[in-house]
Amino acid sequence: MVAIKDIPGVQVFRDIRNSLKKHPTKKYKTRSLGVITHIVVHHSLTKTGSAKAYAEYHVDTNGWPGIGYHFHIAKDGSVDWTNSLETISYHVGNSNKTSIGIVLTGDFRVEKPTEAQMNSLIALIRYLKKLLSIPTTNVKGHSEMPGYSWKQCPCIDMNDLRKKVDSSFALPQKPQNNTPTPDYYVVQRGDTLWNIAKHLNTTVQQILQWNPEIKDPNKLQIGQRIRLKPSASNNASSGTNASTPAKTKYVLPDGILKLGDKGEKVKQLQKALNAINFKCGKADGIYGPKTQDAVRRFQSMYAALKDDGIYGPQTKQFLYQELKKRGLI
Ligand SMILES: [Zn+2]
Repeated sequence: MVAIKDIPGVQVFRDIRNSLKKHPTKKYKTRSLGVITHIVVHHSLTKTGSAKAYAEYHVDTNGWPGIGYHFHIAKDGSVDWTNSLETISYHVGNSNKTSIGIVLTGDFRVEKPTEAQMNSLIALIRYLKKLLSIPTTNVKGHSEMPGYSWKQCPCIDMNDLRKKVDSSFALPQKPQNNTPTPDYYVVQRGDTLWNIAKHLNTTVQQILQWNPEIKDPNKLQIGQRIRLKPSASNNASSGTNASTPAKTKYVLPDGILKLGDKGEKVKQLQKALNAINFKCGKADGIYGPKTQDAVRRFQSMYAALKDDGIYGPQTKQFLYQELKKRGLI
């Protein structure tokens, strides 16, 4: 069975297949992934709801073996995995056997899906398309499926959705990648400067430099505000403070690098990957499987990047942003 741990572009992904209500005796049939040809989108027809509630309704009221859908997308954009892809659940009659069902909570006859929902829907469809080799033309709304033209489901502009799935329409990145560093941290009970520094991926020395008024790093007050950036006044002097070693600067090579390549450019790439914690082993200038894997792991963080493990101009651009954020370039 396919195991899905994480979907690029989806910020919260929960595998709740085993916690949803199931019929005591009835079981859905199963299939091999090869028979899946379509992805079908539904709305719940309810303004509020949850995968748990739909599962209970499908089992208790409809008498089905379990929830009818494979995935649920809540209004906050979080995605629930509700049935294995191999499960032939009920959501589109004659086409159940060849379809994956995705439901969005909402009644889109009278309201619109949230932006977070649409972003997650696009990310999920892109992921499933790739996994199951499904063409975008086979991503359908329920009412577009044979025999369902009467159905008011999902009441989403499917042509627009398909266009976005195929375009380079960029999805927001995971929060840790695009949240700017706040200006201050407010000390909580139990905090130490060391914990705060570790949490923020910086050093105690750096924090003390930004907060010259802290005389004794062992005496923090709950509620005290700690500056997380150089203030305008001590910015100018920060470069001359001998206690802070200058950060190493990294260089990103041009061109394309891939498995089997060797040389100085590969070494530069490896140093940069290691610097942002995409560990690829010693920077030995050899683009081996470890380097390829680190590149792939990095690429998988971004919906806009193909995770092929090959370093090129696009990957360079995203790496550059990561290094820049950390002041490493
Ligand atoms: Zn439907």
